[in-house]
Amino acid sequence: MAKYVFVTGGVVSGLGKGITASSLALLLKSRGYKVFMQKFDPYINVDPGTMSPFQHGEVYVTADGSETDLDLGHYERFIDEELNYTSNITTGKVYSSVLEKERRGDYLGATVQIVPHITNEIKNKVYEAGITSNADIVITEIGGTIGDIESQAFIEALRQIRNEKGKENTFFVHATLVPFIYGSDELKTKPTQHSVIELRGMGIQPDMIVTRSPIVLDEHLKSKIALYCSIPTENIIDSVDVKNIYQIPINYYKQGADAIILKQFGMKVTKANLKEWEKLIDVTDHLEKEIEIALVGKYVELHDAYLSVAESLRHAGYKYHTKININWIDSEELENDVDLKKVFKNSKGIIVPGGFGERGIEGMIKAITYARENNIPYLGICLGMQLAVIEFARNVCHIAEANSTEFNSLCPEPIIDLMSDQKNIINMGGTLRLGNYDCKVKKGTLAYDDYKTETIKERHRHRYEFNNKYKDILKEHGMVFSGINEASNLVEIIEVPKHKHFIGCQFHPEFKSRPTKCHPLFDSFIKSSLK
Ligand code: GLN
Repeated sequence: MAKYVFVTGGVVSGLGKGITASSLALLLKSRGYKVFMQKFDPYINVDPGTMSPFQHGEVYVTADGSETDLDLGHYERFIDEELNYTSNITTGKVYSSVLEKERRGDYLGATVQIVPHITNEIKNKVYEAGITSNADIVITEIGGTIGDIESQAFIEALRQIRNEKGKENTFFVHATLVPFIYGSDELKTKPTQHSVIELRGMGIQPDMIVTRSPIVLDEHLKSKIALYCSIPTENIIDSVDVKNIYQIPINYYKQGADAIILKQFGMKVTKANLKEWEKLIDVTDHLEKEIEIALVGKYVELHDAYLSVAESLRHAGYKYHTKININWIDSEELENDVDLKKVFKNSKGIIVPGGFGERGIEGMIKAITYARENNIPYLGICLGMQLAVIEFARNVCHIAEANSTEFNSLCPEPIIDLMSDQKNIINMGGTLRLGNYDCKVKKGTLAYDDYKTETIKERHRHRYEFNNKYKDILKEHGMVFSGINEASNLVEIIEVPKHKHFIGCQFHPEFKSRPTKCHPLFDSFIKSSLK
């Protein structure tokens, strides 16, 4: 049976609870235990797939095609384990399945209530993650802050799990803020004390408190929190601000955080193997070069909207001991009369990531023309691939009206068109082409150079596809279709070999890049940009 660690947050949101959960998971994995991660999001959307990136940041897609919270990206990048549909549970998901059961008559005449029906459903989601993952330890992060109305049913479910499974199978981590007050120049523990009182009011006594603060907590402050919160001093883990987030697991390790959890579980405190991680910190702390990469998109004001893409660029940078400076460019602004030479003056590579809808499209196309004509390395992801094809059709093949039916449903030259199995879909949620699909990589291409294998699997999230009717004419003008999904004859990768480095993919490689193992497409893109 799996053991369960729950990570709640107090005082303020945005404390880095996701990184805390991921760091603990990484440490437990480094000791040889199989870990799995899960996040509860108390909002009513069934998943973040239908939310604007401005609301929620990026939608992270797992291999099985679940559209999830961006924290799952942190989880996968830290623990390098594939997560799935059991890993992101929202209030919307919980209520949907309870209501479905109610309509089916499964509750046999009962009055359906938050306790026990909603809480049972939540508990089942926790246990399901444990059973299906076959993990030794499941770490569940609870989104939001203690005291939020939204998360109450989740907290109540966790209280019941502790009651059912006991202290030897459950562990509560509460992450809080310890602010520094200027003037008196001291750290303040009162908000933490109050947050723990709030948590206790809901029946949960934390086993560990992780304190986020701008300076290290001294022993006196730790014992003060320990006293007021009824926790051993050594179970107060200091999470001081760091420049490099990869340092955090090591900081927790030095304080024995993971060993404390294992001891409570009665599990062996085996030796941790953190060699790879320490090597990573050494690299990230000593980057020798710098390079600017332009990222052209329409959600650039919120960098979180492109979190995995930015991370993937950085991962590839690590391989070449290079710091990546992202030149965030609002595609809509390129639609005005701007001097592209100026905009891209220092950018050694241009990337157009995924996106939806018509706004800013022509600006992205302008950026692609600039990359192609000036031999600047280009990487197009999903929408960025579709637009690269449209740009090529318009400006190289002289198909002036080339477009996607996403932006003009009546367009006479639909180079990008709705996939046939998407034509009758009415519901927007969860109906894109999602998750892993196979791709056959053509030998002798840039893509093959990158992957060094003919069969790959990548994660998808799109509704439109390349229209095969235009394949021949694009080929005649020099475009190479280097990756195909054979089962449905869908174009997955395109490239222009005449160019220094011009490649686009229909899938999202950014979801598979890891800090210690950068993705081949980002690897070669950065390598070419450095040349
Ligand atoms: N909007 C495009 C589509 O639906 C591209 C999607 C994306 O970039 N994720 O096919």
